[in-house]
Amino acid sequence: MHFPTTPLENISYKALDFYIKRDDLLHPDFSGNKARKFHYFLSGEFLHVRRVVSFGSNQSNAMYSLSVLAKLRGWEFVYFTHHIPAFLKENPIGNYKYALQNGMKIFESKNKADEANAMSDAKTLIVQEGGRQKEAEYGLEILALELQEDIKRQNIKNPFVYLPSGTGVTALFLQKYLPFTVFTCSTVGGDEYLKKQWKMLEQNEECFPVIVSSEKKYHYGKLDIELYQLWEDLQKNTGIEFDLLYDVVGWKKLLSYLPKMRGTLIYLHQGGLRGNESMLQRYQYKYGIIANYKDRK
Ligand SMILES: *Cc1c(COP(=O)(O)O)cnc(C)c1O
Repeated sequence: MHFPTTPLENISYKALDFYIKRDDLLHPDFSGNKARKFHYFLSGEFLHVRRVVSFGSNQSNAMYSLSVLAKLRGWEFVYFTHHIPAFLKENPIGNYKYALQNGMKIFESKNKADEANAMSDAKTLIVQEGGRQKEAEYGLEILALELQEDIKRQNIKNPFVYLPSGTGVTALFLQKYLPFTVFTCSTVGGDEYLKKQWKMLEQNEECFPVIVSSEKKYHYGKLDIELYQLWEDLQKNTGIEFDLLYDVVGWKKLLSYLPKMRGTLIYLHQGGLRGNESMLQRYQYKYGIIANYKDRK
C-alpha cells in the first residue's frame, strides 16, 4: 500500500510566513506520524504474521494507528497498558474508543513491556512503545524524498524543517535523509532524554537534529492553559487544527526560538488529531472550557 503525497501549503500565522507539510491529511484513519512509521508493515507481505502486540499509554496515537493497521491486514491486535481508569472503561473516548472499535484486545499490566515482549513468536509482530524501532526508517525516508520534491517544485530557498518530538525517531530519520537542518524539541522527558534515544539508534552525533530548548519545562500530557490558548489561537489564525500533546509544546518553543533561525520554516504537521478528543475533555473538566469541537471524520 502507498500513501498519496500530502500537500505542502504556504500559510501565515500573524507575522510569520511559513510552509506546512500536511501529514495530518495523509490517511483518514491513520495519525500522520504513526502512519509513516508503520508504513513498512503495510508494504511488505508479512504472510507469517497473525497478530501484532504492543504496549504504552491508554490514549496513545500509536495504539490507535496499530488498531487500524491490524484491521487493514486482518491481524489480531493485543495491547498492554499500565492502567485503564474506571471512568474511561465506562465512557470510552478518543484513541481508546476508536482502537476498541477496530477490535483491539487491551489488557492492564504492571509490566506492560515485559508482558508484550514475552508474546514474541513466529506469528507475532512486536511493536515497541510509540513505534520506536528501525522499521520506522522506511516510511520516513519516503517522507524525506517527498519533502525534497515539494521544495524543488515550489522553489523554496534555504529550507529547514521543524517538528516536535516524542521518542525523537521521526526527527532523527528525517535528518538522516534530508540535506538541510531538521530542528526539533522535546515534549517527553527533557533534551537529554531525546539525545539518549538518538544514541541508541545512531552513533554519529553529527547526524543528530538540532534541539530547540526552552527555560520552562513542559511535562508530557500535562494540562496548561497557556498551551490551550495557543492551540486556539493557531486554529483561529491558520484555519488548521493542531494536536494538543506535541504541536502546542512544539509551537511554544518554536515561537521563542524563531528570531535565531535563518531560512524558510517548513513545519511538519504529524496528525494525531483523534487524541484531541480526550485532551479537550480533560481541559473541559479542569477549566470548564466548552471547546467548540466537532467530531472529525
Ligand atoms: C508520535 C507522535 C509524535 C512524536 O514522534 P516521535 O517519532 O516519537 O518523536 C509527534 N506528533 C504526533 C502527532 C505523534 O503522534
